Amino acid sequence: MSVLVIGGAGYIGSHAARALRRHGYQTVIYDNLSTGYPELAEGFELVVGEVADTAKLASVMKQVDSVMYFAANSLVPESVKNPRKYFTNNVICGLNMLHTAMDNGVGKVIFSSTCSVYGAPEESPIKEDTLKQPCNPYGVTKLTLEHALDAYEQAYGLHYVALRYFNAAGADESGEIGELHRPETHLIPACLTAILGERKELEVFGDDYPTPDGTCIRDYIHVNDLAEAHVLALKHLEKGKNSAAMNLATGRGSSVKEVIDAAEEVTGRKVPRRLVPRRAGDPPSLVADPARAEQVLGWKAQRSLNDMVKTAWNWMHTGRERLLKSVHVESH
Ligand code: UDP
Repeated sequence: MSVLVIGGAGYIGSHAARALRRHGYQTVIYDNLSTGYPELAEGFELVVGEVADTAKLASVMKQVDSVMYFAANSLVPESVKNPRKYFTNNVICGLNMLHTAMDNGVGKVIFSSTCSVYGAPEESPIKEDTLKQPCNPYGVTKLTLEHALDAYEQAYGLHYVALRYFNAAGADESGEIGELHRPETHLIPACLTAILGERKELEVFGDDYPTPDGTCIRDYIHVNDLAEAHVLALKHLEKGKNSAAMNLATGRGSSVKEVIDAAEEVTGRKVPRRLVPRRAGDPPSLVADPARAEQVLGWKAQRSLNDMVKTAWNWMHTGRERLLKSVHVESH
């Protein structure tokens, strides 16, 4: 069976491409390299193209049985400042991808969704039927695509699994692929780049939240656990089972302080840091109930917060060095 991994030269997509290969799938990557890196797609057939380029996308769609769709913009603050970019790239291009898939006989889609579809729910842990009230354009764009998938399934028989990631972190255990965002805003790489002196210090965004230690709580999930869930989701559709949307998370929350402690424990070094005011739009706590993914896919996260920090730290001393040589990274 063959799979087109759109956005496969990016962080999560490149890990999913390797997981597919491990499971024997013929895997083709399609990426415009706007935030991805050719190095992350090494060893795969890489087609460089825009999702908006229907002719090019159609020519590769014709060769595959199913699609995994990772290509999207995913920075919440940027989506607030520049919603046009998000509605264009995530909604218009996302719909173009779905239409191109259906028009070329591809009936199975695995879609990267996000916990941002829920907004800041009062219910915890968050279940799939928790009220979805996204509080930024990024979450709205992802929920819009989920609605389209649902409607297309009912009207046209398109089969899909929408995977709502919580906080993706860590890197492949090989050290060959991992995370490099420009700018890098996520907590674990922010802690580690502060240790390395690539940023002056970690800014801790508020310690007056209604949580046990006052810092925000998130449900961090290892990128290779996410990758394996994608393969299981595809197998689920291949067995002719129902479309579904589900959380991918550990079900355990960690505070910013706990993440800093893990970074210090793993590296044996202090995280230089400074307390600053809350970041706008940060909900105090987002923790998932991952039971549906276990029931439907038989998937359960295997890796701990320490594993995420360890593999991210390893990546910073291996594959990431190579990527840094080929790009200029904006530092904070
Ligand atoms: N955070 C922080 N300093 C940073 C980056 C993040 O204190 O430099 C906090 C942020 O306020 C949030 C948590 O770490 O509570 C996770 O943030 P991240 O940007 O990694 O993911 P998000 O939950 O926003 O998708």
